[in-house]
Amino acid sequence: MEFDTKIVRGCSKPDPTTGAIIPPLYQTATYVLEEVGLDKGFDYTRSSNPTRQELENHLAAIEGGEYAISFSSGMASADSCMKLLVQGDHVVCCDDVYGGTSRLFNKLMTNYGIQFTYVDSQDASNVEKAIRPETKMVWIETPTNPLLKVTDLDAVGSIAKKHALLYVVDSTFATPVFLRPLEYGADIVLHSTTKYLSGHNQLIGGAVITNREDLFESLKFIQKSVGAVSGPFDCWLTILGLKTLHLRMQRHWENAEKVVAYLENHPKVAKVIYPGLESHPMYEIASEQMSGFSGMISFELSGGLEAGKKLMNSVDLCLLAESLGSVETMITHPATMTHAEVPREDRLARGFEDGLVRLSVGIENPDDIITDLDQAFEKV
Ligand code: PLP
Repeated sequence: MEFDTKIVRGCSKPDPTTGAIIPPLYQTATYVLEEVGLDKGFDYTRSSNPTRQELENHLAAIEGGEYAISFSSGMASADSCMKLLVQGDHVVCCDDVYGGTSRLFNKLMTNYGIQFTYVDSQDASNVEKAIRPETKMVWIETPTNPLLKVTDLDAVGSIAKKHALLYVVDSTFATPVFLRPLEYGADIVLHSTTKYLSGHNQLIGGAVITNREDLFESLKFIQKSVGAVSGPFDCWLTILGLKTLHLRMQRHWENAEKVVAYLENHPKVAKVIYPGLESHPMYEIASEQMSGFSGMISFELSGGLEAGKKLMNSVDLCLLAESLGSVETMITHPATMTHAEVPREDRLARGFEDGLVRLSVGIENPDDIITDLDQAFEKV
């Protein structure tokens, strides 16, 4: 099957009992056994559920992996990956990660004796320099939230392989439509399915995809033990969302290119960050490893924080909200919203200014998005 056919069809066949085109929603906690010791492949929904399994098969197919596990959130997926480690292990992580990820790492995992070193992985050699004898994992997000930093996945993959490190890539911003990290040596690909994959601001979810049976078994065991499973209804909604992922991503990208061109020419905009711009320091690598640049744009206004706040408080069509990757255009102030718990000095050290504005360009008519931004800029 071609990639876009896999997106629409996943691995599902019409339901054999009724012919239903859409996979049934098995909204059940448990399953009746035929006799002691004999079930029909399912015994309790914390362990597995047919609707969840349908979604997992679909996710594995489009990410090009053998196995997928669907979690209750992106953070539950990240937490489960952390549980592959033991006290004393060390992780090399890219410096610009989602604020919830750094909160999990710095405020929780450190209590369990896991250590982290953050490096600018846009220069892959920084990853290698940070490796210690106790390093067990490399954690990369690309493009990053919110500075849209891009890591050369092949280069870091070679380093991870050379040092026998687990290589985890959070590919939430790119989606399998534009990037498939398993092709670059990733052991685990992680998604917040809350974002583009489900795509309609309708649920919170996460997933990991891998080609390694040992990792799949370990992560399944962790999930069964901890219980951070996605509910059947959320899985079902995610399956419906997935079916249009390729079309949505194409439109997010096309719209973002138009908004980027508008912002680049706006006198009140000091800086636009977008991996599809030649001015992006990793433009060449991004163009090689990604087949599109998605709908995420970050920018700074010449008037700094106050100007940024004024803009965000003046939009109408663009929605001032946490989250991203939905059909609606959303605008976010990362310093006070998604990354509020990242210490200011850490943010500033990596070029993440107080006034940074993050735009998740939706799939509305791009002229309407630009008209809304334009009227908001008038008020700045
Ligand atoms: N990874 C990235 C890149 C994110 O942007 C987010 C949330 O914004 C997450 C992980 C966490 O996902 P969730 O909110 O589904 O827990």
